[in-house]
Amino acid sequence: MVTNHKHVFDKKDRPLRDLRISVTDRCNLRCTYCMPAEIFGRDHLFLPKSELLSFEELERLAHLFVKTFGVEKIRITGGEPLMRKDMPDLIKKLSYIPGLYDIAMTTNGLLLPVYAEKLKKAGLKRVTISLDSLNDERFKAINGRGVSVSKVLAGIEAAKQVGLGVKINMVVQKGVNETDILPMARYFKEKGEILRFIEFMDVGNTNEWKKQSVITKADIIKIFNQELPIEELEPNYKGEVAQRFRYRDGVGEVGFISSVSDAFCGTCNRARLSAKGELFTCLFASTGFDLRALLRSGQSDQEIEEAIHTVWQNRDDQYSLDRTHSKTISKNKVEMSYIGG
Ligand code: SAM
Ligand code: SF4
Ligand code: SF4
Repeated sequence: MVTNHKHVFDKKDRPLRDLRISVTDRCNLRCTYCMPAEIFGRDHLFLPKSELLSFEELERLAHLFVKTFGVEKIRITGGEPLMRKDMPDLIKKLSYIPGLYDIAMTTNGLLLPVYAEKLKKAGLKRVTISLDSLNDERFKAINGRGVSVSKVLAGIEAAKQVGLGVKINMVVQKGVNETDILPMARYFKEKGEILRFIEFMDVGNTNEWKKQSVITKADIIKIFNQELPIEELEPNYKGEVAQRFRYRDGVGEVGFISSVSDAFCGTCNRARLSAKGELFTCLFASTGFDLRALLRSGQSDQEIEEAIHTVWQNRDDQYSLDRTHSKTISKNKVEMSYIGG
């Protein structure tokens, strides 16, 4: 166990604990709430490869976060992380970092039939797979590319077959897929997977978010209790993002990520690294600190650690809490596909 960490706390006394790394801003889907096809069309300019952090640069930064600040969990995300070639190679590099106990990935699942086995062998522990409906017509419309549900289900199956931990994320939007809540719940209860409901968030500036389009945790609990009663569970650890509930019949669990109706900024301990190596201290930030510039100008590990330390110490983000009190609705936020969900 590595013990000489410089635990760093921000202005609201929140430690730096988790790191989320976006490895690419590209995606093979165009979910309406994330990368609407009208905006992310053929002429959209994605980052060229030279702008992305290389696997060696990512490994170096991840190592610093773990060794210096005691980060124990890293989640790989995007865009669609499996669009980046050779992802198992990155996972393998990360898996050798002493003190890093958990490597997870958030993915749309489409490429898992190709990569699940290699990812597991490389040291990936868990995947969170996004699926918003079991109804083909609705799912095709939501994902913006006409991809059918069976493709994601095949990805889920591939992950399970090789022994990866699997959770499912469902973004719920009013008038879009609230009728899918119970069918999704029944299906994944039966399959033994934890389904998490994510409130539609105002990430980025392109998804035309409106508060009226949000189906809240409370709305969903009401729907459940008419047919499949659930009750709240204790969190697994402090700062857990999803609130856990179990079915009252004792079989299965669901979760809620309720950043709109019940903001959890008070315990937010996540740093985010964008695809081109900027350190963001909030999902709703407009700018990040350019760590890539330090890496590429030959700065020492110590200089980079000091920069990370300073950024975290100066952090006072609490966008979702402020939104709850209607203080801010920023118009200049980074897109989720770029910073990573
Ligand atoms: N492409 C991968 C995927 O879809 O799982 C990883 C990146 S995606 C940005 C990460 C997560 O963010 C997904 O579960 C997605 O559903 C969620 N997400 C994207 N836009 C969102 C929004 N506006 N509100 C809530 N969740 C969102
Ligand atoms: Fe792609 Fe994931 Fe965004 Fe959907 S949510 S567009 S799959 S990055
Ligand atoms: Fe963390 Fe920002 Fe989300 Fe609050 S709004 S929970 S500070 S990422």
